[in-house]
Amino acid sequence: MQLDFEKARRRLVEGLISEGILRSENVIEAMLKVPREEFVLPEYRLSAYVDSPLPLLGDATISAPHMVAMLCEAVRPREGMRILEVGTGSGYQAAVCAEAIKRRGKVFTIEVEWPLAVFAAQNIERLGYADVVEVYYGDGALGIPEKAPFDAILVTAAAERVPAALQDQLALGGRLVIPLEERLGQTLYLYIKSEKGWARERLAYVAFVKLKERRA
Ligand code: SAH
Repeated sequence: MQLDFEKARRRLVEGLISEGILRSENVIEAMLKVPREEFVLPEYRLSAYVDSPLPLLGDATISAPHMVAMLCEAVRPREGMRILEVGTGSGYQAAVCAEAIKRRGKVFTIEVEWPLAVFAAQNIERLGYADVVEVYYGDGALGIPEKAPFDAILVTAAAERVPAALQDQLALGGRLVIPLEERLGQTLYLYIKSEKGWARERLAYVAFVKLKERRA
């Protein structure tokens, strides 16, 4: 039996639309375009369109599709934007961002675990996203100063606080989403930077892997 990944993807996206998580035309189109089955480990391909996180290497996971959709919607991607993602994992979220900006602009994504950075870079290359998505290896809490400012920053690992470097590297008017550790668990926050300061909105209770401290 030939598995119809495209049909499964469409059903998943329709579900996320009816749940109110997917709302914008460009994010919907992006989720319809990017083949999640190509970003999971081969043994999980059959589960690629279940709305759940799946194991990658080590303790990393590819986020659940609804979480990828929520992060992407929160930063309001538009054509031509420069986006930074911290925590590349499989490269899936980066590819969805690339489609959401209509492949115009840039997505910089940084991963602290070398095997994952390589895995993601291979996925990005194989699926034809290398002209839009640049994969970096390093501590994402430091951002990528030489590529700043960014119009949007997505952090896909949970931190104690918003890293100062990321605050600095966000453009005025820019949006930053980040899961923060709190006493009773993690909360996903949206920060908007303006001349008057920061606005913050609570989005959801979430469960991400922890943002790792820089290696010596
Ligand atoms: N966005 C990914 C899912 C990432 S899971 C996807 O779409 O597949 C979180 C990732 O953050 C893991 O790969 C983990 O290794 C990475 N990570 C943890 N701490 C980090 C840090 N300080 N800098 C960069 N990446 C980090």
